[in-house]
This record gives sequence, C-alpha cells and structure tokens, in this order.
Amino acid sequence: MTVQETPVSAKLAEDIRRRCGENAMLCYQCKKCTSGCPVARDMDVAPHRIMRAIQFGRDEAVLNSRTIWLCANCETCFTRCPQSIDIPRIMDAAKNIAKDRGIRCRVPDVATFYNLAVDWINRTGRVYELGLMGEYNLRTGKPARNMDLAIKMFRSAS
Ligand code: SF4
Ligand code: SF4
Repeated sequence: MTVQETPVSAKLAEDIRRRCGENAMLCYQCKKCTSGCPVARDMDVAPHRIMRAIQFGRDEAVLNSRTIWLCANCETCFTRCPQSIDIPRIMDAAKNIAKDRGIRCRVPDVATFYNLAVDWINRTGRVYELGLMGEYNLRTGKPARNMDLAIKMFRSAS
C-alpha cells in the first residue's frame, strides 16, 4: 500500500499574518474558541477548524466557507484563546483575501452589510446605524425590514 502525502502550504497563514499580524500557526486545537462562539452552530466550519485549515494551507475550505462571513467579531474566542490569537482579525483577513481573489461570498447579505459598513466608515469616519440599516434594507430589497426596531432605536437616540 502506498502512503499518500498530504500537501501542506504555509502561504495562506503567511498572507494572513502579513495582513493582520496574527499567527494562526500558534493554534494547538484546544477548541476553546469554538466552544464559546455564539455563532458556531450556524457556521459550516467551526472556528478551530478554520485555524487548522489555515495551518494546512487549505485555502478553499477557509475562503469558501460561510464561517468567515458569519463571524460577528464579538471577540469571545479571542478572550478565551490560551494562545491569545485574535481570531476575528484572522476572519477579517480571510474575508479580504477572498475578495481579492474574486471568491464569491457564501452569505451575500452579510457581504452587503459588511461592504456598506466599511463604506460608511470611509465616507464619514463612523457608522450611522439608522442610515446604514436603511441603505442595507434598500440594497437587499426589503425596505421595511426591522422598521419597528429602527423606530425604537431612533426614539431612544433622540
Ligand atoms: S469573534 Fe467570531 S469566531 Fe470569535 S466567538 Fe465571536 S463570532 Fe465566534
Ligand atoms: S482557542 Fe486558540 S489555541 Fe484553542 S483552538 Fe481556538 S485558536 Fe486554537
């Protein structure tokens, strides 16, 4: 029987490190990130598996995942990680690499929201929530979505 070699590449990990300064190679798979992640059950690849896929240079598994787009940047995983790896920064870097490589986002509404938020920050230096949500609703074809919540937010801010 011949043993098949698994090709391993550090290129993705290096690209991520260059973009955000985080070293995915430090991960030793304790899974504390995944066990604390509030979004893990909706992800297709658990956060600790994303880290492993990066270590093995499995670009497709990382960049085509829903996970990198569903990450809410809540930083729970970062506070739990014994290696102090800033996982949300890694998720952001992976999103940007996917965009640069022309890989279609697996969760288009999240990509629309993300791009609009970045656009607002570039234009005004901050995110104006009500304006952002209005624009997001229009772009996604549901102008009245969460209108009751928007009115509540508007009232509590005024
Ligand atoms: S930052 Fe992202 S991956 Fe980490 S716990 Fe929050 S949602 Fe999960
Ligand atoms: S908590 Fe840190 S070390 Fe543990 S699996 Fe997650 S990224 Fe790796």
